[in-house]
Amino acid sequence: MSGFVFNEKPIQIVEGDGSYLYDTDGTAYLDVGASYACVPLGHGHEAVQEAVREQFSKLTYVQASYPVEIRTELYERLARTAPSGIDKVWLCNSGTEANEAALKFARSATGNSKIVATMQGFHGRTMGALATTWKDKYKKPYEPLIGDVAFVPYNDGDAMAEAVDEQTAAVIVEPVQGEGGINPASTEFLTRTREVTDDAGAALIFDEVQTGMGRTGTLWAGKGQITPDMITSAKGLGNGMPIGATLCRDWIAENYGSHASTFSGAPVIAAAANATVGTIVEENVPEHAAKMGRYLREELERAIGDEVREIRSEGLMLGIEVKRGANRYLKQLALNHQVLALPAGRTVVRLLPPLTIETGEADELVAALEAVLR
Ligand SMILES: *Cc1c(COP(=O)(O)O)cnc(C)c1O
Repeated sequence: MSGFVFNEKPIQIVEGDGSYLYDTDGTAYLDVGASYACVPLGHGHEAVQEAVREQFSKLTYVQASYPVEIRTELYERLARTAPSGIDKVWLCNSGTEANEAALKFARSATGNSKIVATMQGFHGRTMGALATTWKDKYKKPYEPLIGDVAFVPYNDGDAMAEAVDEQTAAVIVEPVQGEGGINPASTEFLTRTREVTDDAGAALIFDEVQTGMGRTGTLWAGKGQITPDMITSAKGLGNGMPIGATLCRDWIAENYGSHASTFSGAPVIAAAANATVGTIVEENVPEHAAKMGRYLREELERAIGDEVREIRSEGLMLGIEVKRGANRYLKQLALNHQVLALPAGRTVVRLLPPLTIETGEADELVAALEAVLR
């Protein structure tokens, strides 16, 4: 299937180290998409590799019904990072599964079926998460999906208040929309969404698959004063190893129904996530991300010109809205400047560099963007 699902990329990557990827000729590419935010600590991070090697040689896998220390440690570590009140953790293998679980948990805990999602939102590609995703391109070939999903404009508190009612099981929302073009939520919108979900007895899910793990300059992006009922995580959680998590409040966890996955919290993957989260917390990586995010934003605003409509960002999640299609710039960046960035929709160049990016690397990125986006 791979030939038809993925576009052929002309660059064959064979090695990764820090912020750089290397192709078969040994050419270095600055990976400012962090391969879709999956390597917050950069490629080949020593502590993560060591944890994986050690666990792999000790116990690769045992069925999830036996408690395993490394998994218990991850449950506790994730619960400690979450806002107070959220201390139950469900582990899976990807972002879409984390959202799939959150939607199922919300339905069983509330006894309701209706889901409210946002326009331009992206929550994954399995049938449930896909039904809450906005773009028709992703959904149309597979319809009918699960029903009972309403979409409201992002950052429209009144529309949210209108849509959420006594039949609502959950609202699912990204604190910063990623795939939808790097759109940060206003504190006002999230506050209003919290109020109306509280009033209706509905679960509020923050999809932090892309925003979590320090990406926006704090470990979780949901504004400190607004605590959802569930937080979903994946992408950067294992620094490149496949893992997802659904963090829940007690009232959700106590009524989760019956849900399971064979590879939930598999030891080697749990070891990778433990080392990743541990390093991010102990080395204050979110603080560095906040600082570098400010630096990059300032430098970009100074450097780039006519081709750019707007820059939107939160921490090291940056979107450059361009006047023409983003793809032509992405191609130039890759082939002429050895910089691998990402699109977000048709007209946004998306930057999600490793959170460990250094000033010199940021300057290299700005110079390349300056040359391409003058
Ligand atoms: C990538 C993404 C997902 C889906 O994650 P997968 O691991 O690809 O299933 C869900 N939500 C958001 C916000 C994402 O960015």
